[in-house]
Amino acid sequence: MDPSLRRIRGDVLRALGFTVLLACSGWCVAADALAQTGVSPPPPDLTRFGSTPDAGQFDRLIEQIERGDLIVSSPQQIRDAVKVLDGLRPVHDAKRELRLRGFRCDYDDLGQPASGLAFARAGMADAQRLGDIGSQVRFGLCEANYIDGSGQTSQSAASVATALALARKHGDPRLLAQALIHRGSLRSLLGEQAAALTDFLEAQRVYNAAGLRNEAEAGLGDIAAAYRRMGDHDKALEYLRQGVAFAERQGDPGLLSVALLQTAFLHEDLGRHDEALAVQRRAIQVAAGHGLEYDVAAAHLAMASSLVKKGDFSGAETALATARIGFERLGDKSNEAMLQLLEGMVLAGRGDDVLALEHYDRATREFDADPNLRYQVDLYAARALSHEALGDYRAAMDDLKLERTGRRKLNDDARTQQSLLLQYQFDTARRDLENAQLQAGQRSQKQRLKVVERANRWQVAALISSGLLLLLLGVLFLRQLRSMRRINRLALTDALTGVANRRHVEVAAEQAVERSRTTGEPLAVLTFDLDSFKRINDGHGHASGDQVLVRVARACEAVLRQNDLLGRVGGEEFVVLLPNTPSDAALLVAERLRDSVHRLDLGDIAEDLDVTISLGLAMLRPQDDGLHDVIDRADAALYRAKDAGRNRVAIELDDPLAIRLTSVDARHTAAVASAAQ
Ligand code: GH3
Ligand code: MG
Ligand code: MG
Repeated sequence: MDPSLRRIRGDVLRALGFTVLLACSGWCVAADALAQTGVSPPPPDLTRFGSTPDAGQFDRLIEQIERGDLIVSSPQQIRDAVKVLDGLRPVHDAKRELRLRGFRCDYDDLGQPASGLAFARAGMADAQRLGDIGSQVRFGLCEANYIDGSGQTSQSAASVATALALARKHGDPRLLAQALIHRGSLRSLLGEQAAALTDFLEAQRVYNAAGLRNEAEAGLGDIAAAYRRMGDHDKALEYLRQGVAFAERQGDPGLLSVALLQTAFLHEDLGRHDEALAVQRRAIQVAAGHGLEYDVAAAHLAMASSLVKKGDFSGAETALATARIGFERLGDKSNEAMLQLLEGMVLAGRGDDVLALEHYDRATREFDADPNLRYQVDLYAARALSHEALGDYRAAMDDLKLERTGRRKLNDDARTQQSLLLQYQFDTARRDLENAQLQAGQRSQKQRLKVVERANRWQVAALISSGLLLLLLGVLFLRQLRSMRRINRLALTDALTGVANRRHVEVAAEQAVERSRTTGEPLAVLTFDLDSFKRINDGHGHASGDQVLVRVARACEAVLRQNDLLGRVGGEEFVVLLPNTPSDAALLVAERLRDSVHRLDLGDIAEDLDVTISLGLAMLRPQDDGLHDVIDRADAALYRAKDAGRNRVAIELDDPLAIRLTSVDARHTAAVASAAQ
């Protein structure tokens, strides 16, 4: 059994009901005989841990006992365990020596409370000397336990507080939970149920977080007790049922007897005396069957209280006497107030109010030293009855007033505790919620960051890839542009001579016409044809003819302006567009073309090769449908030039210049042109 539970058991059982003084009768014997049939776990097999010094085995055995995997509950079993542990402990291992003393402080019967207290304080001094925090917690709680045992519940609080602070520092979940449970038990006894519950529930969380399920379940009884004292019977019963079931599963008689006694108190609170008695008998059976003397005494005290309330004073007397003997044998004084109170009540029940008042006085003195309002109000009520019976109505009235005030305070306290608990629970729930929200917030913040990071990565990747894509597109585009230009060039260029082809001339002509019509600038058009080219082909070959065509085109291009356009529109037929050029200037250009061709030295192609061209000139007119009209007129002039003997320029017929010059001989061209200016 968990050592902290042993302490709590003491605390809980000490806070019991009412009794009657009587010697232990046959009832006790019967109860003890019944006890032999209680929960009986198999006796622990300690031999398997060995008997020679072995630190590992020492630690394992202590661990198993503290975990509840190995149940040692009877004084004999505890003595056996201590003996085995002592044999396993390495000789000069000071820390384990202290550990064993801590274990004994929790489990062993150290005699009277005073000797237990001395044992605990000596252990504490050694633990402090060794700087062993864990042992300091153990001895601190043990010390508090023995201070409790000497009937000074409120004074043990300081020891527990110190132990709890150390336990928080130490970080061992089991020690921390034990300290919390101890403080919770104290608080519960002092009426601070809400605070007690927060300790118990925190202990549960600590146990559960550490995976110590057994320990967590073992604490259910404490929670139930606190709820019961707050008046929340439903909650208490719920926890108690779980606690009893767990103790039965574990086969832990100590735990079971506590859970049973608490269940009995619950029935008692609800006025179900017979149910309470049945459960108390079972508790006695379990505790007595395993040598749990304190529990047997406490159960008898509880039974006495139930019997008194039922009006069974002789039964109460018997139970009370058994309890007193048990507590005296253990040197326990913590139940003295209760014993005196119940003894008084039995006497009063028997009609001996004078003697009852003496017991009530003793109980009052005990309660003055260590108050417990829950039982003090019962004392006031009982004393009022005795005063009344003795005719002391003033004293009776005073006691009744005390009782009423006390009960009102208890009710107020219960209400306060309940609302405090609600507040704590609300605070805890809110804190949990806030923590959850915070964590969720942090998670979603992290997720958002992750998403942003991922998005950033994607963005960078997208930027890189779109950059690459753009680059690729750029390259492709440039290539495309180049190839388009090439295609365009091919489409617009004459493959042989490299000058504009017919299509190019047509497109350019359209634009030139458009521009001329918009601006009013004159547009001149020349067409020319190589003279007697058939003969060249025939005389020097087609290839030479081609070369001649190339040389003629090149020669013509050389004398034209930037904005003029030379195009090959047939086999050996060319067109020249002369934007913004009046007819006289165009005539000069035509003559220059004729002259440059005429001057060509084509000796590299063939000997005695002479080439000339005949040209026709026409001007765009407003009434023209398009360039083809102008070209037609230019061609007409060209034919006239041929007719006139070739190697000459002819101007369209109705041009004023042409009227003056019916035929332009190359030799006169310059003179005519200058005259025209
Ligand atoms: P004309 O002075 O009256 O113009 O006499 P011509 O011999 O030049 O007569 P025409 O213009 O009718 O003859 C055109 C000749 O040009 C026909 C063809 O053999 C030749 N020719 C046309 N295209 C090409 C070409 O691309 N290369 C070569 N080598 N000859 C061509
Ligand atoms: Mg021709
Ligand atoms: Mg020709």
